[in-house]
Amino acid sequence: MEHGDRERLIFHIDVNSAFLSWECVYRLSHDPDALDLRTIPSAVGGDASMRHGIVLAKSPLARKYGVTTGEPLAQARRKCPNLTVVPSRFDFYIKCSRRMMELLEEYTPDHEKFSIDEIFLDMTETIHLFGDPLATASQIRERIKNELGFTVNIGISSNKLLAKMASDFEKPDRCHTLFPHEVPGKMWPLPIRELFFVGSAAQKKMEALGLHTIGQLAACDLELLKAHLGRSYAVLIHQYANGVDEDPVEERDPVNKAYGNSITLSRDISDHDNACQVLLSLCETVGARLRADHVLCSNVCVELRDWEFKNQSHQMTLAEPTDSTSVLYECSCRLLKDFWDMTPLRLMGVRAGKIADDSFSQISLFDDPGLLKKKEFEKTVDKIRNKYGIDSIKRASFLQKDSIVDHAASKKKHLNRQEDMDR
Ligand SMILES: [Mg+2]
Repeated sequence: MEHGDRERLIFHIDVNSAFLSWECVYRLSHDPDALDLRTIPSAVGGDASMRHGIVLAKSPLARKYGVTTGEPLAQARRKCPNLTVVPSRFDFYIKCSRRMMELLEEYTPDHEKFSIDEIFLDMTETIHLFGDPLATASQIRERIKNELGFTVNIGISSNKLLAKMASDFEKPDRCHTLFPHEVPGKMWPLPIRELFFVGSAAQKKMEALGLHTIGQLAACDLELLKAHLGRSYAVLIHQYANGVDEDPVEERDPVNKAYGNSITLSRDISDHDNACQVLLSLCETVGARLRADHVLCSNVCVELRDWEFKNQSHQMTLAEPTDSTSVLYECSCRLLKDFWDMTPLRLMGVRAGKIADDSFSQISLFDDPGLLKKKEFEKTVDKIRNKYGIDSIKRASFLQKDSIVDHAASKKKHLNRQEDMDR
């Protein structure tokens, strides 16, 4: 089979209003008459046990009131007094995400999970098994809707950039193509801000140069762009505007540092919603590993590398040690909101620090109940029950394989590494 010059076929699947949709799936599965949150101003809020919850996801109607992801719930309620806020249910959302990924794996082994609700499929080698690309994408979209109960947009093209741009066209529950020959008609008229990898800082600089549409950027002199935007970014963004993207579909290997996880982004992140989604997938793995090893952290650190390769990191100390994904996530979102100036990002990381053995501290409580008041202990137990629910045994399915196989060793390794870092 000839490979080299054959055009690739890439699908980008993106869940419509992911958390909110998944929350609806949960509610409707338990009560078929439940109110569909997607049809009212609503938001999925952060951990209620935290003093200041934040918005983790919002409905299209809430967005119309100016509600944004990552802002405090109190602020969101001021903007939208009739906002319905529901608590998050991460373990269920992760289940929905995994079910979708499993369904999609039936179509090709070549995929790249981009975030909890986005995935790229390289269909080049398998499309002949299914037929016409658009019909195949429609079949996938229908199957997800019928079998899993939520809707997706699917973008179809010959590279990841264009497939992702296409999935962002009219929503929800739609498939769109954006092949290279369609770029002048479908992509070039769009405002520059719509181009992936263009954050508000870059947008302002380009508008100052008189560039307002993606087409104008595509036609702009590269040397002029380099002078104003920096060399590597200018080259990349000019290629993107012309629909050029050579990046392969491949599973990224996250770099694990102690209880940390970071992702080199195959695409720029330049808006708060997407950044929070990346943080969530990072917090999910970090939280799952903490729980797998029965340890708690009392420090959370967010690391960012921007497109100019500048690194920064900020951290906060928690009032109480935790292994909860939603607490980690909420803290990470707050840190991000505090120090990120929306400069497009190349890498994001979350690190859990100040690790302590959970079972250890509980044993010591039994051994010497005088050390801590009984009341506080009960509160902790209640909190754990509230966080994990009665069926917390199910969490085993979220554990990483290596943690299950070599639980004791990995625990020791992580703790040692943590000590090394603290020294
Ligand atoms: Mg989405």
